[in-house]
Amino acid sequence: MADAEPGGYSIETMLAAAASGFGGAVAPPIVQTSLFTFDSYKAFEDRMAGRSGDPLYTRVQNPTVAAFENLMAKAEEGEAAVGFASGMAAISSTVLAFVRPGDRIACIEHVYPDAYRLFERLLRPFGIEVTYHSVADFQQDPDLLKGVRLAYLESPNSVVFQTLDLAAVAAHARRHGTLTVVDNSWATPLFQRPLTLGIDIVVHSASKYLSGHSDTVAGVVVAGTDLIGRIRDLTLTLLGGKLAPFEAFLLTRGLRTLGPRMRQHQETANVFVDRLSAHPKVTAVLSPGPNSVPGLTGRSGLMSLELDASVDIPRLADALKLFRLGVSWGGFESLVLPTRIGLAQAGEQNSMQRFGVSDRVLRLSLGLEDPNDLWADFEAALSTSARS
Ligand SMILES: *Cc1c(COP(=O)(O)O)cnc(C)c1O
Repeated sequence: MADAEPGGYSIETMLAAAASGFGGAVAPPIVQTSLFTFDSYKAFEDRMAGRSGDPLYTRVQNPTVAAFENLMAKAEEGEAAVGFASGMAAISSTVLAFVRPGDRIACIEHVYPDAYRLFERLLRPFGIEVTYHSVADFQQDPDLLKGVRLAYLESPNSVVFQTLDLAAVAAHARRHGTLTVVDNSWATPLFQRPLTLGIDIVVHSASKYLSGHSDTVAGVVVAGTDLIGRIRDLTLTLLGGKLAPFEAFLLTRGLRTLGPRMRQHQETANVFVDRLSAHPKVTAVLSPGPNSVPGLTGRSGLMSLELDASVDIPRLADALKLFRLGVSWGGFESLVLPTRIGLAQAGEQNSMQRFGVSDRVLRLSLGLEDPNDLWADFEAALSTSARS
């Protein structure tokens, strides 16, 4: 089975087993405290001197957060994990832990728009150079990463969902001593585990599929012990973007249904890919499937499609009854995001404009409603939305 563990257990069996450890409780308690006290002077001193690992202060360590971090480390087959207050806190804290003025970051094109703004608006003025490259360049140019400190990758990338052969890029990066970071929010560890392909660090927006219920904003980073230790000591502690215990509780709850949810998202996505591909008004369907690159074993419910010029996109959006209009994705409810709206977003650093996305593209987040109901809604809206 695609999601089998080396030990023979599926990822969900492993997650259920790992969620215990609180005196027999199957769900972790929410340890809602800022600080932890010590029984003796010696225990306190040992902790401050680094001779014990007992929790001290929730900015850096909390048992509810640790329960989620341990699950994520297992799910991604990494040694350690660290939770953050948002996906952007995870991304910025990861990058800032490893780059210095004068360093260069090589980034995939069509990167998540706020990661792009982080690089352009915040890091560039601090003297960090950022260059953007296509999938083909990353895969085929073995010297692309020469002199590059960090490669910032998404596979698939945002809106256009182009996939990258992560093992090939990791091999190039190792030769040049470049650190590799992959945003795995789209695939989740159920469908792709970049660390097993040689990637150094995985980051997630846990606000999406990991949470799964559109009720949390959170992030997480998974990597080897040394890399996570550096992020924890440096940017978690000093920038302070910690994950809250209550959010960690919700995430632990969300992770338990990750498998069934992702399989349902995939089933609906397969229905949409088949029917959209055959629809006369649809000129492209952007949705990578299993094995479109080595290591990708499933299709999530986030995809894009391109419509021909006969479709009035605002009219289509307003005719939808089940799909709702909004940003984000990965929850129960289905959503549509017309790129026309993203392209019109205010601000000079607009990645959709920079990398060139057609305003005929719609992004769909297919939720957990019945696939045939969703298709009936979408098809009906499409058939009533001819330009007048
Ligand atoms: C949403 C998202 C992020 C940012 O995560 P937040 O939790 O909103 O901060 C990063 N990467 C991808 C691919 C996303 O979709």
